[in-house]
Amino acid sequence: MTAPTMAPPVSEREARDVAEAARETEWHAPSFLAELFGGRLRMDLIHPHPEPSADDEARARPFLEALERFLREKVDGDAIDRAGKVPPEVIEGLKALGAFGIKIPREYGGLGLSQLHYTRAIAMVSSVCGSTVALLSAHQSIGVPGPLKAFGTPEQKKRFLPRLAKGAVSAFALTEPGVGSDPAAIQTVATPTPDGEAFILNGEKLWITNGTIAELMVVMARTPSVVVNGKERRQITAFIVEAGWPGVEVVRRCDFMGLKGIENAVLRFTNVRVPRENVLWGEGKGLKLALITLNTGRLTLPASSVAAAKRCLEISRQWANQRVQWGQPVGRHDAVAQKIGRMAADAFALEAVSELCSTLADKGGYDIRLEAAIAKLYNSEHAWRIVDDTVQIRGGRGYETAQSLKARGEIPWPVERIMRDFRINLIFEGSSEIMHLFIAREAVDRHLKVAGPLLDPRTPLGTKAAALLRTGVFYAGWYPSRYFGWGRWPRYAEFGRLATHVRFAERMSRKLARTTFHAMVRFGPRLEKRQSVLFRLVDVGADLFAIAAACSRAEMLRKRGQPEAVELADLFCRYARRRIRATFRTVFSNEDTRTYALARQVLDGKYTWMEAGLV
Ligand SMILES: Cc1cc2nc3c(=O)[nH]c(=O)nc-3n(C[C@H](O)[C@H](O)[C@H](O)COP(=O)(O)OP(=O)(O)OC[C@H]3O[C@@H](n4cnc5c(N)ncnc54)[C@H](O)[C@@H]3O)c2cc1C
Repeated sequence: MTAPTMAPPVSEREARDVAEAARETEWHAPSFLAELFGGRLRMDLIHPHPEPSADDEARARPFLEALERFLREKVDGDAIDRAGKVPPEVIEGLKALGAFGIKIPREYGGLGLSQLHYTRAIAMVSSVCGSTVALLSAHQSIGVPGPLKAFGTPEQKKRFLPRLAKGAVSAFALTEPGVGSDPAAIQTVATPTPDGEAFILNGEKLWITNGTIAELMVVMARTPSVVVNGKERRQITAFIVEAGWPGVEVVRRCDFMGLKGIENAVLRFTNVRVPRENVLWGEGKGLKLALITLNTGRLTLPASSVAAAKRCLEISRQWANQRVQWGQPVGRHDAVAQKIGRMAADAFALEAVSELCSTLADKGGYDIRLEAAIAKLYNSEHAWRIVDDTVQIRGGRGYETAQSLKARGEIPWPVERIMRDFRINLIFEGSSEIMHLFIAREAVDRHLKVAGPLLDPRTPLGTKAAALLRTGVFYAGWYPSRYFGWGRWPRYAEFGRLATHVRFAERMSRKLARTTFHAMVRFGPRLEKRQSVLFRLVDVGADLFAIAAACSRAEMLRKRGQPEAVELADLFCRYARRRIRATFRTVFSNEDTRTYALARQVLDGKYTWMEAGLV
């Protein structure tokens, strides 16, 4: 048995340098969240709520209707869970519907639908079977079609996209036994052949979804380092690899807590010859490609989270009406009613966040990277709580499998499976911790650009003096503008009852920017290490985004004749406001230092005596 590499083969600084080199450093298009972290609530960027064009809707409708019929008639999520396999007829049926090429342009044989309709399709599949979602999503959210469409040469597109649209399953291979969240340590190597015509690929990839059945995959590998400013820079390159090539081997199929039908594998590459024309985008651009692909790729999980939240709401509503204990339906007992009320309000906000982000991605001319990261983080975390509450509301039945419920003649609501299938959403495609860090990095970017040299202890004294002057001039204008502003009546009156929440968001966005600045001043370069402080700032930003999205969506629905949407948005905002106030209170007043110190002692083995008594 081999243990995963525990010691990092690269230093912390090297890992950070690699991540920084892959960052998109410029903001070429507007972003609501970039503005929000800078202290400005730009409702004009998201409101009125963007809507898909009538043409897009008309093109998507027949596919979505056919998909719905297919899911109802042919896909049994519980049977797939028990068998541990998505049956071939389901995969073939999905191929026939075009479900493997939803976003692939029509000229290449795909359906050419929008991001919004793609995520709606994924949400529909999610409501039936998590394993089937994993298959479709690994293929087209992160697999070959996405990066190929964005970065492929016309020749590469012609070669691969029609195959992929017809259903040649694809995968995305980044993770390795020693490489999880930190891609700098990639051990898979691609060595150029002496004639420069190809690369020889060697290495092992872990947990590759679709790995057992994929025909094509994007593989991330190290290529020879380059020297930049006298320093070695690690290069990571993306390759399109055919699973059928000599030297590509499925070592084993992995098995998980949930998603029992997922085709996930350990893959080994032994002297695999990859022609140079299979390099995607260019040597050394692999990590940037992965990050950019994930900007929109990440929008799938927020939509799956919405589906889980809605399914849970449906089950909780029915069960809490039906189940009588202590003389009345359990839904009338305050403790259960509180859960259901919050569940409905939260589910509304999660859908607002997901739909808003997908429509913004379709609109173009909008930088979606922060929105997608927050949507992934926020929706998966909040939906997980909804799933947990649903298990609680179902009581013992929440813990019982659907098959066992059915055998006893009860409705086989698959809450137990939903919980098992859902948990991974907080880990893959960027764990919650990594999403927090990614967002925090962008949130402090403006400050780093201005005050970075001043805060960096390595900056020479002369440069520091110039930086001090520049920084002083910038903040003399910036800081007062983030203090004074009008976030009170009658601003945002067009939101009616919800205007008070939008005004709150305006005031709090300025407070968020100020608090971020205070944190920079207080901790200086050490802020990077104070993850809990950064995470709180991100959580405030996420809640403010959700308030804005929920108000905008409620307003759109109200105008369409659904006034009760305002009720849902209002309750959601009230809870979010309480959370925001509480989070602000703990940004600087907390037990972080003490907790960190205790954790260090735990890790050093000081409390192993507590583990006594276990067998
Ligand atoms: C079912 C499944 C399917 C998957 N599919 C794919 C796939 O198709 N392709 C692919 O390439 N990969 C895939 N993965 C891998 C997945 O993306 C990784 O599990 C994920 O990136 C996290 O890496 P890790 O598990 O090694 O965790 P680690 O990186 O080892 O992290 C362990 C813990 O530490 C935290 N952590 C790590 N670094 C930091 C830090 N700097 N600050 C604070 N906290 C930190 C993490 O958030 C996590 O909680 C899959 C995994 C699973 C389980």
